[in-house]
Amino acid sequence: MYATSSKRYRGRFAPSPTGPLHFGSLIAALGSFLDARSRAGEWLVRMEDLDPPREVKGAADDILRTLEAFGLYWDNEVMYQSQRHDAYQQALEQLEQAGLIYPCGCSRREIQKNTSGSGTVYPGTCRNGLPQGRKARSLRLRAPDLELGFADRLQGDIRERLPEKSDFVIRRADGLFAYQLAVVVDDAEQGITDIVRGADLLDSTCRQIFLQQSLGYARTRYLHLPVALNENGEKLSKQTRAPAVTPRQAVSSLTAAMRFLGQRVPEGLEDAQLADFWDWALPNWESERIPNSRLIGTH
Ligand code: GLU
Repeated sequence: MYATSSKRYRGRFAPSPTGPLHFGSLIAALGSFLDARSRAGEWLVRMEDLDPPREVKGAADDILRTLEAFGLYWDNEVMYQSQRHDAYQQALEQLEQAGLIYPCGCSRREIQKNTSGSGTVYPGTCRNGLPQGRKARSLRLRAPDLELGFADRLQGDIRERLPEKSDFVIRRADGLFAYQLAVVVDDAEQGITDIVRGADLLDSTCRQIFLQQSLGYARTRYLHLPVALNENGEKLSKQTRAPAVTPRQAVSSLTAAMRFLGQRVPEGLEDAQLADFWDWALPNWESERIPNSRLIGTH
């Protein structure tokens, strides 16, 4: 166990290898890197290869090579979630012993059928035991009626009642551990003090804080960066066909990412050499200048 306040800053970038690095993921990499380095902190990389059906062969290596080509050098060994199943299983058992886990027999289709509007909310069908004749498919966390909150360094105070997110899945029907569990176990294992990531994950943070508390881990600080949108107002992602960033255009992509993050980029920096870019970026990073919106268009 460690105390966040007295520990040296340790940040991380945790990409999912579902495709190459694009402008959206570059923003998360650069923002977390500069926030760490400007505080003389460490910066770790964790490959979130937890969900093989969604992964693209070669994407993990491709992301790492791109980070290096951009000068985003990490500390320590890269952690791979695909090698961490024992740790997730142990955490799951700890939650089970605390009475926080129950088996659920519902399929996704059944839950969707019972939900109106957007977002699927689990109605709690199996909360008090599997209905007769049903077999367990997934394991869910029994969310207590609790309000949780945190002070995001950029987005301000965020508060949420846990039941609004309903009882969420911890181990999926296909046997894979859920992102929510893995991320919390790994941030604790890696001794992360500060999480800088996209605001699309704000929605998960209170659930993750609840898991941190339930597992007895120290709290982390959070800074949720604005998320880049394409011309159709969609988040840049593999699904929306965001183009890959390429080493050949490292400096112009990094410069554009700095502008996106509200930094005072000198004119002509996009034409500089990579080393000159970093000579400017490292001492001039001002996290206070990041716009505190959750979404920003890039066109
Ligand atoms: N692997 C997640 C993603 O690519 C990020 C997880 C995190 O930063 O907590 O969206």
